[in-house]
Amino acid sequence: MSEKIHKTIIIGSGPAGYAAAIYAARANMEPVVFTGPEPGGQLITTTDVENYPGYPKGIGGPEMMEEFREQAERFGTVVHYEMIAKVDFNTGKDYHTIYTESDEAYHAYTIIISTGASAKYLGLESEKRLMNKGVSACAVCDGFFYKGLEVAVVGAGDTAAEEATYLAKLCPKVHMLVRRDEMRASKIMQKRVENSPNIEVYWNTETEEVLGDDKVTGVRVFNNKTNEKKDIAVEGFFVAIGHKPNTGIFKEILDMDETGYLMAEPGTTKTNVAGVFVSGDAQDKVYRQAVTAAGTGCMAALDAERYLVENELA
Ligand code: NDP
Repeated sequence: MSEKIHKTIIIGSGPAGYAAAIYAARANMEPVVFTGPEPGGQLITTTDVENYPGYPKGIGGPEMMEEFREQAERFGTVVHYEMIAKVDFNTGKDYHTIYTESDEAYHAYTIIISTGASAKYLGLESEKRLMNKGVSACAVCDGFFYKGLEVAVVGAGDTAAEEATYLAKLCPKVHMLVRRDEMRASKIMQKRVENSPNIEVYWNTETEEVLGDDKVTGVRVFNNKTNEKKDIAVEGFFVAIGHKPNTGIFKEILDMDETGYLMAEPGTTKTNVAGVFVSGDAQDKVYRQAVTAAGTGCMAALDAERYLVENELA
């Protein structure tokens, strides 16, 4: 049991968490990072990152996150490879308490939440096996690798519509697989899909299997009204069926929207609890990029620093 009261504890170790740590460490806030179950976050499951400024030749996702961690540690960030299981943001004191999975308590005047979100997948064995070998959950991240090639997009929400239209600018043909006879996406996004001549929408269509041994070569789909099966030759398979923010431990403690994304005071990273800040994908269902996550991580560290000063806790 650690009785020390830290200035700031950061929960999560993706671009948001480490950017917050770099800023907090350089402001002498001696941050402690709890990495969570996937140190480095979603980028750990990515191959090449080519859209993060400062890497003109691109960089592997895991390698980039190693560099984020090194940069944070260089200024004194302490990294714990542990998961936070429980939080107490109502201690009645001027600090908050968080508990690791082994029930060890840590106290801090400020908490920065950077727990991220996880992409939802269909749950097929073939989808898992071909992950990063043609299967992706982010068109903006990976679309470029499929320039000039045919791809499929699964989903019918705003993300799927956005990804399909994004890919339609790079690929000769985008096969959009929609499981019902209508789309959930907003009217304007649907219009964009309709206005893209190289997007073919397959209604009432579900995925049976992603095809390929070492890389994606196609997708086997079936029509859930007629049961008719069909193989479509594609080299990229983009799953766009939504994300789940990793915010379960904050339920009924912090304000969140109906899908679990934490809500910050507009223009800030402040949650509804004083001294608790949120950054990255845990509060962002629209942009979801490494660079935007890092940006909000920086904002959270600056907001936390101001909070410490204003409350004479630093
Ligand atoms: P949504 O939950 O809105 O949509 C998920 C889509 O995936 C639905 O069409 C759903 O189908 C489909 N789906 C779910 N599971 C399966 C499955 N197993 N097989 C096939 N299809 C499946 O998620 P989004 O990520 O699209 O959007 C999340 C939120 O973010 C929304 O509020 C959206 O408006 C917002 N957003 C806004 C953007 C913007 O403003 N630019 C961009 C992206 C997102 P069904 O409809 O049948 O349930």
